[in-house]
Amino acid sequence: MRPPSVDALARSLHGLEIPHAVAVDLARAAIAAGDAASAPELALRWRRARLTPVVNGTGVLLHTNLGRAPRPRRASRGRQHEPEPVRYSNLEFDLGSGLRGSRQDHVGPLLASLVGAESALVVNNGAAAVLLVLTTLAQGRAVLVSRGELVEIGGGFRLPEIFEACGARMVEVGTTNRTYRSDYARALGAEPAVILQVHRSNFSMTGFTASVGIGELASLGVPVVADLGSGLLDATTPWLEQRPPAWLAGEPAARQALEGGAALVTFSGDKLLGGPQAGLIAGRADLVGECGRHPLARALRPGALVLEELEETLLAYLARSPLLIPFWQMAMAPVEGLRARAGSICEKAATGQPVGLTAVAGGGSAPGQSIESAGVALDGDHWRSLIDHEPPVLSRREDGRTIIDLRTVDPADDDVVADALRRAASAATCSTTGSG
Ligand SMILES: *Cc1c(COP(=O)(O)O)cnc(C)c1O
Repeated sequence: MRPPSVDALARSLHGLEIPHAVAVDLARAAIAAGDAASAPELALRWRRARLTPVVNGTGVLLHTNLGRAPRPRRASRGRQHEPEPVRYSNLEFDLGSGLRGSRQDHVGPLLASLVGAESALVVNNGAAAVLLVLTTLAQGRAVLVSRGELVEIGGGFRLPEIFEACGARMVEVGTTNRTYRSDYARALGAEPAVILQVHRSNFSMTGFTASVGIGELASLGVPVVADLGSGLLDATTPWLEQRPPAWLAGEPAARQALEGGAALVTFSGDKLLGGPQAGLIAGRADLVGECGRHPLARALRPGALVLEELEETLLAYLARSPLLIPFWQMAMAPVEGLRARAGSICEKAATGQPVGLTAVAGGGSAPGQSIESAGVALDGDHWRSLIDHEPPVLSRREDGRTIIDLRTVDPADDDVVADALRRAASAATCSTTGSG
């Protein structure tokens, strides 16, 4: 009998509620193993590896495998709903084997498959990822880093201080504006544990500059760690229907960095990835494993809430559903739609003018790049009165005008914006009249 096609087998798995991309992978794996009949079993196993609420009948109130204390109930906001049952979760429990599992087993494999890594690990934030990697791989040893990449990220993340905290010896190579492969090669005598490449995420350097690509660094025979910061998973953005937007052009991506020869990449969960605050480490299985076994990993591990949100985010990527990731939904919204919304908000508020604007990615991503946008302008400074609205509305002040950029406003809040503008305008009129 001929084996079924990958497509047909993948479709037959859809009833098991797994994303099509995953069904295709599993179908392909089953057929490659010459056992198409095992596909439903693989799909079930995949599903059982996801984080899921479980009923805890063990009598252990704070069960380590089940996420310790169950989540607090939400204090009722507004109308009373039927209370949801209190559930624990399979945070550190393997539903497949019925044995203790690791909290890294749910999200790690999803992340690894999205960026083409052998293995992946999640910690608290991007800074923690760098700290864990450098401490694990380079404590008491040298690390080569370009003088053009000794950056400070907001909030006190300064590379020289990170090195100190990790007990790694920083060996600077090259100059501020130009660093060559030969600069790294000359410094190999320091017997570096790794070469660190750091993305200049919050500034750009133009003019007489030179830097060394990951491939060239990797050819020096020392593991290359790329701190990407911004968390773009794949430069070809397969989760978008459109081609990658122009403002992403200079952004390094995890999949391409690993393909280019990086041994490990580190990045944040809440920048271009669009997920919760987290730090992600992906790459060679041996190095990820070492990081995971370091005592510091326990101190930097993420909580269940973060892992749940991160899993949702990664599943949205796998399901090619960028609309489920607010960052991508907002970043990719066509500007025509924003213009139309600006028009109807002004009509509803009976004040303000629709204007063309430029938005930015922000958060130390895509420095120097802007995204075409549109919004509403109101003459005068209404910044404070918009903040005092319930819910508060944050705006920009530009040339004596108050600007609300709709790229970052959910359409569901357009009525809120209209109301806030109307009140702000009439408050200004009243106070002018009052003082006259
Ligand atoms: C943002 C960033 C970090 C820090 O990540 P957090 O998630 O904010 O801790 C580290 N390195 C680079 C290059 C960054 O852009």
